[in-house]
Amino acid sequence: MDNKIRSAEILCVGTELLLGDIVNTNAAFLSQKLAELGICVYKHTAVGDNPERLKAALRCALESADMVITSGGLGPTYDDLTKETVAEHFGRQMELDAHSLCRIEEYFKKTGRVMTENNRKQAMMPKGAVIFDNDYGTAPALALCGGEGNTKTVIMLPGPPNEIIPIFNEKVMPYLEGRRNSVIVSRNVHIFGMGESAVENVIGEIMKKSENPTVAPYCKEGEVRLRVTASAADGDEARKMCDSVIERISNTEVGQYIYGIDCETLERAALEFLRQRGLSFACAESCTGGLISKRMTEISGASEVFLGGCVTYANEAKMRLLGVREQTLAEHGAVSEQTAAEMARGVREALGADVGVSVTGIAGPTGGTPEKPVGTVFVGISTKTGEQVRKLSLSPKKSREYIRSVSASNAFDMVLKSGL
Ligand code: ATP
Ligand code: MG
Repeated sequence: MDNKIRSAEILCVGTELLLGDIVNTNAAFLSQKLAELGICVYKHTAVGDNPERLKAALRCALESADMVITSGGLGPTYDDLTKETVAEHFGRQMELDAHSLCRIEEYFKKTGRVMTENNRKQAMMPKGAVIFDNDYGTAPALALCGGEGNTKTVIMLPGPPNEIIPIFNEKVMPYLEGRRNSVIVSRNVHIFGMGESAVENVIGEIMKKSENPTVAPYCKEGEVRLRVTASAADGDEARKMCDSVIERISNTEVGQYIYGIDCETLERAALEFLRQRGLSFACAESCTGGLISKRMTEISGASEVFLGGCVTYANEAKMRLLGVREQTLAEHGAVSEQTAAEMARGVREALGADVGVSVTGIAGPTGGTPEKPVGTVFVGISTKTGEQVRKLSLSPKKSREYIRSVSASNAFDMVLKSGL
């Protein structure tokens, strides 16, 4: 048996987790980090500050996994019992670690606080532990190997997120890098305009057959993200394995709906598209009420592309600010292909932009008519070659929030499909 770590369980200690007082963000953080290292996480457990239950949970976790990572219970108080419990499990004595005591004393001096006698408890370590200095708090983190042939490892980390995150990144990561068996690489394929079931219908075979890399779908408001994850001896090989699956997916009907790989959001993809072409962007929004502007300006560096936007809710505003014709509004209504086109052109000209987009629609839940039910939205785009309008007929049962969000997404998608 080598001492490689292939599997892990995460054991979070703290009664406050069970009471629902705090959300277990440490477990999510540790899982993400272990995935990066190619270590499989079998289970998350949370236990209260209770020695018997902690002992039982530890025993159980170490039966199935090579490693257990704990968070919490390293503090100075009587109910902080993690180290003692792990030491007892592996049959180790506790001893004072002079280096840790010295660092804790210094920490108190530096922060001007008074060190109490029970802080010495934080310098007591199980015999044979590897100690990771804590530069962000008083409790050092530690690793202890034990069990038959020393094949089991427990890593104990402090509870506060502002301590566990830097200690893990700076100290524990390098320790684990030497003991992992493989590297995991994940890539995200972003799809817009095709629903999850339609995507699965087309690439179901690729998804089912593929164990390494795996392909997992996630959906959110009109979008599908496929997470492709490969495990290999090194990063380059894992990346190549991901790329070959992504190429197979791109060669199916899904390909035309892929707007990016690892690009996070549609607005980022649209911004990058415009930036690369040196094009400026403006928007005129009715039912999205500024959502396009908000999503654009959330991205740092948006000013390279984004000139501004108008929220034109009333007909009067559409006429005054965008030059939408009264006759257009009277003949076709504010929610119409013609109005969307004039809004997009109007804002493009008003702001002197290369690309103007517009949204006008009925976000509901009220305001629908038999001809134009809730969910009817027109999304326009104007460039120097003319205007194009896309009509959306979203389900009237969808929430106002959903209709607004998908409408804004369509505006970004139209930029990407503009052929510019
Ligand atoms: P301390 O020295 O602060 O007592 P500790 O290692 O004993 O550190 P805990 O007492 O268990 O850690 O937790 C301290 C604080 O850290 C908690 O009150 C909580 O705010 C946060 N915390 C603990 N566990 C988690 C967790 N799993 N996810 C997110 N936050 C946590
Ligand atoms: Mg504590």
